Amino acid sequence: MKLSDPISSLRGTNSKQRAVLEVMGLTTVRDLIFHFPFRYEDFSVRIPLSQVEAGMEVTVVAKVERLASRHAFRRRLSLTEAFLSDGQGTITAVWFNQPYLSKYVRAGETYRFAGKAVQTKYGLRLQNPVYGRESLGEAAMTGPVSPFLPVYPSSAGLTQFVLRKLIRNCLSAVVDLRDHLPEGVIDGYGLMSLSDALRSVHFPEVIGDQTAARRRLAFDELLRIQLAMGRTRRYRESRRAQAVTFGREAVLGFVEGLPFKLTDDQRRAAWEVIRDMEKDMPMNRLLDGDVGSGKTAVAALAAMNAAAAGHQTAIMAPTEILALQHYRTLSAMYAAGGLKVALWTNSYHRSFADGEDRERRGKAESMALLSEIASGEVDVVVGTQALVEPSVSFASLMLVVVDEQHRFGVRIRQLLCDKGSADGLEPHLLTMTATPIPRSLALAVYGDLDLSVIREKPGGRQPIKTKVVSPRGRQAAYGAVRRELEAGRQAFVVCPLIDSSDMLGVTSVTEEHDRLVGEVFPDYEIGQLHGRLPAAEKEEMMRRFRSGEIKVLVATSVIEVGVDVPNATVMCVEGADRFGLAQLHQFRGRVGRGEHQSYCFLFPANYGTAVRERLSAMEATDDGFVLAEKDLALRGPGDLLGVEQSGQLSELKFASVADMDLVRDTRVAAQSILEDDPELDNHPVLREFIGESVREAHLE
Ligand code: ADP
Ligand code: MG
Repeated sequence: MKLSDPISSLRGTNSKQRAVLEVMGLTTVRDLIFHFPFRYEDFSVRIPLSQVEAGMEVTVVAKVERLASRHAFRRRLSLTEAFLSDGQGTITAVWFNQPYLSKYVRAGETYRFAGKAVQTKYGLRLQNPVYGRESLGEAAMTGPVSPFLPVYPSSAGLTQFVLRKLIRNCLSAVVDLRDHLPEGVIDGYGLMSLSDALRSVHFPEVIGDQTAARRRLAFDELLRIQLAMGRTRRYRESRRAQAVTFGREAVLGFVEGLPFKLTDDQRRAAWEVIRDMEKDMPMNRLLDGDVGSGKTAVAALAAMNAAAAGHQTAIMAPTEILALQHYRTLSAMYAAGGLKVALWTNSYHRSFADGEDRERRGKAESMALLSEIASGEVDVVVGTQALVEPSVSFASLMLVVVDEQHRFGVRIRQLLCDKGSADGLEPHLLTMTATPIPRSLALAVYGDLDLSVIREKPGGRQPIKTKVVSPRGRQAAYGAVRRELEAGRQAFVVCPLIDSSDMLGVTSVTEEHDRLVGEVFPDYEIGQLHGRLPAAEKEEMMRRFRSGEIKVLVATSVIEVGVDVPNATVMCVEGADRFGLAQLHQFRGRVGRGEHQSYCFLFPANYGTAVRERLSAMEATDDGFVLAEKDLALRGPGDLLGVEQSGQLSELKFASVADMDLVRDTRVAAQSILEDDPELDNHPVLREFIGESVREAHLE
């Protein structure tokens, strides 16, 4: 039997089981063997009954002494009890609503039972254990019998017993299990062979085998990603860009004109960008720095460098508020340098030149602005996704900056870059993110691009006092907020989405707004910001908050509260337990921007131990990279990267992108494989193994 054989060719399946497997998307033997996320925790250890304690996940082998069914809880539930003994101890297994059970489990016979032992008022019970006849299937296996019984995620219509039997049959029947890894890699990294790994991951002989098997399969998963990235990188390196010589005078003039001194990290990042732009290969660099770390100045410097060589820069931000803010910041920064800046979004068409900010209202004015961009008169164009519309064209777009890059798909980014492609040349690309990305994750996700990190914050900021507030502590926290408001400061209140149908966050924001107005701060002006407001109203709301007219701003998490309001000193987050640490840290970054002491209050909807423990990290540190690493370990990459970008990673069954060593090993292995054999012509099995990812890489 081969891995590619259909499941229907497997002995011992009936048509109903095959139908269930098909519904689960499993059609080949390979699918079946690779399907289940069999984690270490899914194995329960087989122990004698005398050692079973409450709370343990166990496998026991025991004889059914007696079996009884009855109705329980006012006859709403049927209950089956089996009194088990293994010669050393006894326990009662109970199942709810499984009347057919007595067809499979008979008194007087011995079975394996796997499940959780719980303490009830009637004594220790094994609750709803899965079961299988002790000897069945194992006779067919060669070698010692596994003392472990895998517990698969339950699937309607297939019992654990059947799944184990099928997988066991597959494992012993498959003969064409060629290892896709080159021998050098297997030996070099001390890996288990593929066939041993697959067998051990389902039915290990000792628990150590399971660990080694996991490592091997994790290696495969990460290697696949690294090979795909390596190929993407090679493809990029084969393309050409306009090389720009360092515009020393203009850039130094720009730096001197800044109202602050660049931090060392900003300086280093800027220098890395300048060096990239000097090459005739398109830059693809990610600038990663916490909120407030000063990424804008680095981007502005890069744009100045491009302008000095007579080229244009496009800066794309995810929201109109952010685009407007960048436009303002850049206008101020370039006022002395004489650059011309434009703002292009759905709602705003503006330009700044010679110290004058002009709104370009009406069709004629907008068209005029477009032609100033197309002629190259405008040096830097700031905007939203509206920049990719066909009406926007450039004379010489040489640098593309994408802020909060994870908010855009690859396609949008590419559309913008395409506007600068001419004569086979591509623009340089600088992407920015305020999500601190742990090093291992960066290598696993962004290994195909170069990374500049700004860790250091511009000096002189006080740490923000952060508190996780218990339900009882809420009033005291409001007292502290009130003291800030009385001192003339302002506050943000961030609300979570209540449910997925509420994508705009209207419900929670409105409710919270009304509650604050009605019960908590009736004497202060409170505004609200959510996705349903038209852009003009959003801007008006932001203007009133910036001017201090509005004291408390209630907003959703989806609206980037992407504003620099130094007078805001309080950040309250409702439903804080719904957010990852990295995201909470982002919210917190909205305060502490001025000279005043700032505060962050986290109100979890569920104040359980686990939540308290997790959120307490926010109290302990204000280093976004530390928090991101915790998030990665606790919640995986989804929180840090968003669904789209972590798509490939969320399919990882064995590997953790928090595992720096393995990420590094697979990266090195991928590089050395591609070095000798870029198209994998000499590694056909490996090529087949990574087939999907290769196709994805070429699509990019
Ligand atoms: P972010 O990385 O979040 O985009 P910004 O670029 O918006 O950060 O910068 C945040 C604030 O810090 C801005 O008000 C900016 O003027 C200021 N800033 C940037 N760099 C420095 C610096 N080196 N020293 C002092 N302030 C700085
Ligand atoms: Mg920014």
